[in-house]
Amino acid sequence: MRALRLALVASECAPFAKTGGLADVLLGLGRWLGKPGPEGGGHDVRVFLPFYKRIAASGLATQPVPGAQDLDVRFPQRTIRFSLRQAPLPHSRVPAWFVDCPELYGRDGIYTEDGDESLRFAMLCRAVLETCQRLQWSPDVVHCNDWHTGLLPLYLRTLYAWDRLFANTKTLLAIHNIGYQGLFADSHLDMLGLGEQRAHVHHGDLQGGRVSFLKTGVLHATRLCTVSRTYAREIQTAEYGMGMEELLRTRSQDLVGIVNGVDYGDWDPAQDPLIPHHFSADAPHGKAKMKAALLNRFQLPHDPRAPVFAVVSRLTAQKGFELFADALPVFLQREDMRLCVLGSGDQKHEDYFQWLRDTWPHKVGLYRGFQEELAHWIEAGSDVFLMPSRFEPCGLNQMYSLRYGTPPIVRRTGGLADTVEAWDPATRRGTGFLFDEFSSQAFAGTIDWALRNWRDQRGWQQMMQNGMRRDFSWHKQGPEYVALYQSMLG
Ligand code: ADP
Repeated sequence: MRALRLALVASECAPFAKTGGLADVLLGLGRWLGKPGPEGGGHDVRVFLPFYKRIAASGLATQPVPGAQDLDVRFPQRTIRFSLRQAPLPHSRVPAWFVDCPELYGRDGIYTEDGDESLRFAMLCRAVLETCQRLQWSPDVVHCNDWHTGLLPLYLRTLYAWDRLFANTKTLLAIHNIGYQGLFADSHLDMLGLGEQRAHVHHGDLQGGRVSFLKTGVLHATRLCTVSRTYAREIQTAEYGMGMEELLRTRSQDLVGIVNGVDYGDWDPAQDPLIPHHFSADAPHGKAKMKAALLNRFQLPHDPRAPVFAVVSRLTAQKGFELFADALPVFLQREDMRLCVLGSGDQKHEDYFQWLRDTWPHKVGLYRGFQEELAHWIEAGSDVFLMPSRFEPCGLNQMYSLRYGTPPIVRRTGGLADTVEAWDPATRRGTGFLFDEFSSQAFAGTIDWALRNWRDQRGWQQMMQNGMRRDFSWHKQGPEYVALYQSMLG
């Protein structure tokens, strides 16, 4: 089997730019694909992402990519210049190739609400293709991720179709979250150099005066994938498809679900450099120390018998936080329990957790914001992880919590359904707790069920062990991507 030339293109890649799981996946998959020897894929991989202001300001040492400096990309109304800078992914030889273009990416956020947001990500797509041309590097597969890269397959089929360099290049579009589609007024097409390609854009959208980057990608990518088997099925239904279900059904033969891997180099309590006490399934004692340390950090009273519930999340509607309002206060009032929350997002959810914290200051700890290290502490120091998502394409946190001995309570949807197995005290099998109906009653009933199981500490330890021994590594998941790439190449 020859090594494949793979371009991974995305708006995020940890640790450089991260708002959620997408960034972890790019890092983990990129690292695994490029790793030589039996431990990795051994492929020729480059990860493309914008050189955001925060990366430039981080002090990261980057080098110019020889031959890829001061390249001009012509759009109808203007020409935009970029240069390519590179740095290896941490603990890897795989290069991250940063599209350095201060006029588009030299801004505070990764994402913006600026009028040229469409151009920022159209430019990313074009910069990838221009770079390949300039360096005469012919990718076997361009693996696009989410709406930000949705135009790339169309650009390849139109503006770049003349170039023999791409004659055998295939495109894969990975949908990490169908809730974000990149919707813009159709007038943007002219600005993006696709004015003459309107026939290739989704007709229904055009009639509504819109263009969707994600739909455009779904229409033109060679193949499609999403991040769990269940989600691949769900997004073809009206309940989960967010208006894309019909289109996806027309391509269902080309759509597969592959559960994300976990990079245990970063997320393993046995060696996690971000936590002070280490533990594993074979040596679990450090977990109790982490619990004490976590409660101390949140200035909450420590009692080993009181379970610590945890939330680490973007605070958005997707994650099911409206279920907390009816479910949680009853337990906080009644039970000797703790709740540690790390998150940021919608004001109303932040305010809600603040209210919980103000009402039960000895039981609830809250950190509003994004804090990588604290996320690791919470995974390691808690007893139960809460993830009642309305929808969840894959979800990484439940897999992290399994490895960190923190059984999750999840709704049976998307990747949560594929990765958490219901605990059965009779057989002592299972790794966590699941519920089906998206309702506060179902959520509360499951918390109650978890608390009853908590009282049987021997059973609980077994459930923790079961979870800690599950393997969601890239070593296991990565080959599924390689098989997919290879099937695309024939
Ligand atoms: P999503 O991608 O939908 O946000 P995932 O569970 O797939 O959800 O991935 C979330 C990732 O983002 C995890 O690595 C998690 O630890 C991290 N994360 C989310 N919110 C925060 C936060 N406030 N601080 C630190 N890390 C966070």
